[in-house]
Amino acid sequence: MSFTMHGIAVSNGIAIGHAHLISHSSLEVAHYILPAHFVDSEIERFDAALLATRQEFSNLRSNRPTHAAAEFDAFLELHQMILDDPLLCAAPRELIALEHCNAEWALKVQTDTLVTQFDEFEDAYLRERQTDVKQVAERLLKRLAGHPGHQPSPVRLDVETILVAHDLSPADLIQFKPQQYAAFITDAGGATSHTAIIARSLNTPCAVGFHNARDLLREDDLMILDGEQGVLIINPDKSILAEYKLRQSARNLDRRKLKRLRHSPANTLDGTFIELQANIEKPGDISEVKENGATGIGLFRSEFLFLNRDVLPDEDEQFEAYRAVASGMDGQSVTIRTFDLGADKQIKGMGRVASNPALGLRAIRLCLAEPKLFRTQLRAMLRATCYGRVKILVPMLSCVAEINQTLQFIAATKKGLDEEGIPYNPEVKIGGMIEIPAAALSLHAFAKKLDFLSIGTNDLIQYMLAIDRTDEDVAHLYDPLHPAVLNVLHHIISTSNKLHIPVSVCGEMAGELSYTRLLLGFGLRNFSMFSAQVPSIKQRILTTSLMDIPILTQKILRADDPIKIRQLLGKLNAL
Ligand code: PEP
Ligand code: MG
Repeated sequence: MSFTMHGIAVSNGIAIGHAHLISHSSLEVAHYILPAHFVDSEIERFDAALLATRQEFSNLRSNRPTHAAAEFDAFLELHQMILDDPLLCAAPRELIALEHCNAEWALKVQTDTLVTQFDEFEDAYLRERQTDVKQVAERLLKRLAGHPGHQPSPVRLDVETILVAHDLSPADLIQFKPQQYAAFITDAGGATSHTAIIARSLNTPCAVGFHNARDLLREDDLMILDGEQGVLIINPDKSILAEYKLRQSARNLDRRKLKRLRHSPANTLDGTFIELQANIEKPGDISEVKENGATGIGLFRSEFLFLNRDVLPDEDEQFEAYRAVASGMDGQSVTIRTFDLGADKQIKGMGRVASNPALGLRAIRLCLAEPKLFRTQLRAMLRATCYGRVKILVPMLSCVAEINQTLQFIAATKKGLDEEGIPYNPEVKIGGMIEIPAAALSLHAFAKKLDFLSIGTNDLIQYMLAIDRTDEDVAHLYDPLHPAVLNVLHHIISTSNKLHIPVSVCGEMAGELSYTRLLLGFGLRNFSMFSAQVPSIKQRILTTSLMDIPILTQKILRADDPIKIRQLLGKLNAL
């Protein structure tokens, strides 16, 4: 049966492929009471499933794929240990004997108990291990259900796979990066969550917020994902399939044509040059940056070097990563952001996860609270300044005191390098992200202390509208065209221009074609976005005359009716 589901559009493109369901996060099993004479055979059934799961782990270890991440062995070892722990392998047997319940139910009850105990751990890393307990229990459950076991997800991915998950963390997704797959969808998440941002940077069609796709879809279902509309068509009929195949090839052709603009400067029709830079997460991303003709790195989200690992990168490892990007960009500017960890990007052992992590110890707050980590990163960044036009960007600043503290920290780190005779560029520019409303209203003070500003619209909107950007339940309220957001953006850009402090936008709005002219109208001349989007934005700039846009821009700023704003924006984009 063919049916359609609607989610939140995240990343453009059409994917046609087969569903691969990524492990379900909740254990849903039936509960029934057995006649007394069945209890022994039920325990035997549980033991057989245990044995088969153990065998499955040892097969996985001996057939470890050569390209598998180094963490693969550690992950398997941990899961084997969990499986062999009496709390998981013996306790359910006792429950079956005591309560005469089915093995699945005994396993679920025991897993729930363990998960509750893990929940109470103070340490975030230990608390997070409940996920591993659930994953092992699910593997065991599949054996009980008679499934022949499965390979870990990355192994079976191919270009026709559409990943279907309840949720994927940015860390999960980045692990899939070297793998080929067609697209992914999740039940949870919003359009500017970090997971969505990674999907865009991978240039992978993606939509999120489907709520219950993970339950409704079956493994191998044929599906079409339209990442631009956020539409998923399951088991499409022949004519729909043919239509989407046609759209897919037309889109690929357009993209190939657009790439021919790679070497043309992004000049408006009236000859103003617009800087189009790229956002990256890893040094390996720069080949794509160049392929798409970006003129520098406007945002290197350095925190991605810290994810998915037990031991954090030391100074030399970080230095190598920053140096590779600095020298790889051949003299173009490279803006490295100090780590923006916390909120939805947690590292192992970082301690307690706050009850409201987006408002907690995140980004610069965490840097200043962890001086050792911060100093290591700053030393690595400063050393890399000798290899290219490196700038340092500080996320989530909220007040001048934080800027002062950060600058003092940087000065002390420079002094340390001086004492050791280690070279760096003493003139390195230090910028601040404007992503908290308080910062947007403190520009004069910020401009006195900093060399440049970069507007993080993703967080600015989150904090202005009080909407958790990762929460699909409030995703419909996340509105870049909210009059307050537009007026604040206009205020930041025009004030920065008046103060002669360079300003860019590096949030997702910079890569959204429908906002390009509006941002130009606000006075923006520097955009940083996921690199695949550079050619489309360049084409829009090449067909824009700056003289034509002020009147409509002013009308949009004065409008307070959302429908009117959208109508006016439509007119601006149709000029
Ligand atoms: C932003 O908030 O807009 C931004 C660019 O930073 P991040 O998305 O990494 O929080
Ligand atoms: Mg941000």
